[in-house]
Amino acid sequence: MELLSIKKLDLAGKRVFIRCDFNVPMDEFGNISDDRRIRSALATINYCLDQKCAVILASHLGRPKGEVDEKYSLAPVARRLHHLLKRDVILANDVVGEDAVSKAETLQPSEVLLLENLRFEAGETKDDAELSAKLAAMAEVYINDAFGVSHRAHSSVHGITEHFDDVHRAAGFLLDKEIQFLGKIIEEPVRPFAAIIGGSKVSGKLEALVNLLPKVDKIFIGGGMAFTFLKQMGYDIGASLVEDDLLEEAQKIMDKAKSLGVKFYLPVDVVAADKFSEDSVSKLVTAQEIPHGWMGLDIGPATVRLYREALNDVQTVLWNGPMGVYEMDKFARGSSKIAHFVADSYATTVVGGGDTADLVQRIGLDEEMSFISTGGGASLELIEGKVLPGVKPLIVK
Ligand code: AMP
Repeated sequence: MELLSIKKLDLAGKRVFIRCDFNVPMDEFGNISDDRRIRSALATINYCLDQKCAVILASHLGRPKGEVDEKYSLAPVARRLHHLLKRDVILANDVVGEDAVSKAETLQPSEVLLLENLRFEAGETKDDAELSAKLAAMAEVYINDAFGVSHRAHSSVHGITEHFDDVHRAAGFLLDKEIQFLGKIIEEPVRPFAAIIGGSKVSGKLEALVNLLPKVDKIFIGGGMAFTFLKQMGYDIGASLVEDDLLEEAQKIMDKAKSLGVKFYLPVDVVAADKFSEDSVSKLVTAQEIPHGWMGLDIGPATVRLYREALNDVQTVLWNGPMGVYEMDKFARGSSKIAHFVADSYATTVVGGGDTADLVQRIGLDEEMSFISTGGGASLELIEGKVLPGVKPLIVK
């Protein structure tokens, strides 16, 4: 998929609007705890600054519900940007209000303006035409570098693109890299190609699973979603997470894997607990012997050994979703062991954003993976074979 390239735009001295994804995690003191998303946007921002552009940056942060909420102000992002760009970053007090509009109008070449949190405007998530027009009116060129939100038809990602023609809009370097890398992995992987799919529910990843089946050689299931498959196989899964309405789908997936010759792996043992809590009583049990009322919250050591064994010859790994409740130390071991194994392998390793990226980052393995996507949901939708609404207008026709 070829995208409109920022390199083909005549940017010199222009006023450029860059939609970034600065939706970074914060700790309890309001400090940015992981600035990877901000650092990932620097290539595009610096490229525009080198062309003497006046740069207007826009992003959302958290879910402020369409109204101003100081807790979600982009002020900490402006400070981090100032530090990383080594230049002043002007922060507007609003998104398309008087302050933002006047600051955008007077912005000089090589200056950087950051608008306040896009989701302070209720229209943003509704793809509101009026908001799109107001945002578009601030600049002569539009660049989308926010892969993490490109699966959303929001004003700053979708509606705004209608106000720019193909010589005034493009994909930023990050967006382009994500689309090319993930696209290539899915279309032309070096084989054997394995997908490790975990996380809480089958429902969130059903389409991705169905779409991956004809493409992969092996699938490894972990996390809460494994129990829907185990239940369908006739096991008593106790009080583990399950989606009873998807039992039939689970069977179809297993049947399809069989007919396609895809090796389909499920946990053979689990760490079970008497409640969903760090201070629960826990024990190791086989998948066949989860005690009544107990829930499986991580994969066990036999599963780790099995998965490692089967991953040994794999050349490409796509990983989306943790193997257990990794937020609690007690149930993080399975995910951590798989992460170490994947990181140490010589395979091309691709981590699909969100929780899995967070997990890999927490255990300090982020530098060891070939590619960590900045978008969890967006990378899943790409795997599902969808054309993302924020990307569609930027495809070269
Ligand atoms: P998802 O957003 O679907 O990728 O799911 C990620 C979440 O799944 C994480 O917050 C994990 O804590 C959770 N998770 C993983 N394994 C389990 C499990 N066995 N039971 C309940 N939740 C789980």
